[in-house]
Amino acid sequence: MNNNKKSDADYDWVLPGDKIAVIEEFLPDETCYEQDGSIYSRIVGRVMTDSKKHKISVVPKHPLRSIKSGDIGLGRVEYMKKQIASVDIYHLNKKNISIPISAVLHISEASRRFVKNMYEVTRPGDWLRFRIIRAMKPVYISLIGDGLGVIISYCIQCGYELEYKRRNLLECPNCETTQSRITSKYFGKPLIRNLRPSRNETR
Ligand SMILES: [Zn+2]
Repeated sequence: MNNNKKSDADYDWVLPGDKIAVIEEFLPDETCYEQDGSIYSRIVGRVMTDSKKHKISVVPKHPLRSIKSGDIGLGRVEYMKKQIASVDIYHLNKKNISIPISAVLHISEASRRFVKNMYEVTRPGDWLRFRIIRAMKPVYISLIGDGLGVIISYCIQCGYELEYKRRNLLECPNCETTQSRITSKYFGKPLIRNLRPSRNETR
């Protein structure tokens, strides 16, 4: 069975206890179980098969159950291009997340005002406070809203932690350059004291 290029509606959605295959065809993983030669789903989700490896599994319907649209999170920018930034979410609704969740920030969600490219918004290593706008994979976040934006930032020249100069403008206490970011009103506030990685990790 080839699952490529299928839309969501084309998948076989199953409930716990639904028969999804027979044991001659596939080996079940932890999302399903075998009984009397048949394989049954343990969870709500869609059936995925790998014919070559004879594997079958059920992908949960809500793999990111803890995330909802509108949730407020904190995360670190991992890499970026002109139009998008990839952000790892470490904190959601004031709780730490054990395994960071990868999310995407698109330039159109960076600010209410026009911004030409992501380099005016943030840089890798920065910490952001954001809102979830798409809770399914790929997760999308927005910086548009009260208190959202960059909360911790590092100098692109020398790596020092930047200081607040004025809204959307930061200054390096070491090399004295000024740099644009879309700043949150919580910039520099200790929102993530326990989360903050060492500079070595950041650079
Ligand atoms: Zn500097």
